[in-house]
Amino acid sequence: MTQKKSLVLVLNCGSSSVKGAVIDCVTGAVLFSCLAEKLNLPDAFITIKDGDNKEVVDLSHKAHHTGAIEAMMEALKKRGLDKQIGAVGHRIVHGGEHFKESTIVNEDVVDNIQKCITLAPLHNPAHLLGISAAQNVFHHIPHVVVFDTAFHQTMPDYAYTYAIPHELYQELGLRRYGAHGTSCRYVAGEASRMLDRPLKDLALVIAHLGNGASITAVEGGKVKDTSMGLTPLEGLVMGTRCGDIDASVFSFLHEQKGWGIGKITEILNKKSGMLGISGVSNDYRVVEESAHTGNHRSELALEVFGYRLAKYIAAMTVAAGRLDALIFTGGIGENSKSMRENVMNKLGFLGLYIDDQLNAEMRFGKSGIISRSKAPLAMVIPTNEELMIAQDAARLTGLID
Ligand code: ADP
Repeated sequence: MTQKKSLVLVLNCGSSSVKGAVIDCVTGAVLFSCLAEKLNLPDAFITIKDGDNKEVVDLSHKAHHTGAIEAMMEALKKRGLDKQIGAVGHRIVHGGEHFKESTIVNEDVVDNIQKCITLAPLHNPAHLLGISAAQNVFHHIPHVVVFDTAFHQTMPDYAYTYAIPHELYQELGLRRYGAHGTSCRYVAGEASRMLDRPLKDLALVIAHLGNGASITAVEGGKVKDTSMGLTPLEGLVMGTRCGDIDASVFSFLHEQKGWGIGKITEILNKKSGMLGISGVSNDYRVVEESAHTGNHRSELALEVFGYRLAKYIAAMTVAAGRLDALIFTGGIGENSKSMRENVMNKLGFLGLYIDDQLNAEMRFGKSGIISRSKAPLAMVIPTNEELMIAQDAARLTGLID
């Protein structure tokens, strides 16, 4: 039976959207979820789901964060869930150097999230709006913030320092921060559980491959390096982001095309990656299908993606000091067996060899080992950032130990 107060409302607030889920932090069950979209526009609405039921509610008369969270509360009341929720967990994109772990919200915490706005100008203001709206509606229970950057704060200075004048770091905090930290922490914990070995004894390389993609070395439970930088643009090839690139691209494109910083930034973030190379789609599955029909640019996009990833796995093995397990997660990592095969085929020199049958099996939510090699191992572990947020909120507020 579900324990009464093991339920946590997990919120992810964007500038025009609010995503919510009620999660049982003991069983991991998602009892309710909703997504408010088009906030601040006349046709705002919220879609509410529980089990197989789906309901769409018009938000046009209250097209703001508070309106969305009030509608969520109404829906929870209707289902008798409101009184069972013991805490609210908020996903926060950037905690800068200030937040090294999740924490209970108070005035100081809000001030410090505010101070990180320069590092995440699109996300942190929306999170603050969400926190304030949620505190008004769910005023009777504690709120906890969980940061995408926090786990990466264990990274050593030689990994996060850019080779630019050090005063720019001291003055502006210009350094590498990484993202996907909550996902990495969850996956590392799952790996330790599945392998029945304590995290402090494990050297892991975790490839989180979704629309955004990053790779992280975790040794002894601490991040040793990660591929994303000041922003999520650095590192691997992504759906629409270019990943690593020579910074001189800015002056080159400016001189050759007359483009300004804004336009070039937009191209590198929104029109590059798999979409830019293939010209077909940012969606990995669609690019795979197109490559199967012989589209050369799609084939090339898959090759660039796989080559960059393999190169990074080797680099992250250096960061981790050794490799006990390579872990694939995120929509692409969890599902694309051909990507995993392509990448692993480049990594025999690390002692990694794919098991075709296991690789074909571990898809669509299944977790397990996919290597023939016993050491190092390669594994697939579906991520669950929302459960991690729910568990942090429950632990910090005493709902669970
Ligand atoms: P987000 O970063 O938005 O959370 P996801 O982790 O959901 O993204 O991953 C989305 C990516 O996963 C898309 O590129 C999608 O094509 C890819 N993907 C999902 N299922 C498959 C599949 N069966 N085969 C290959 N790629 C897949």
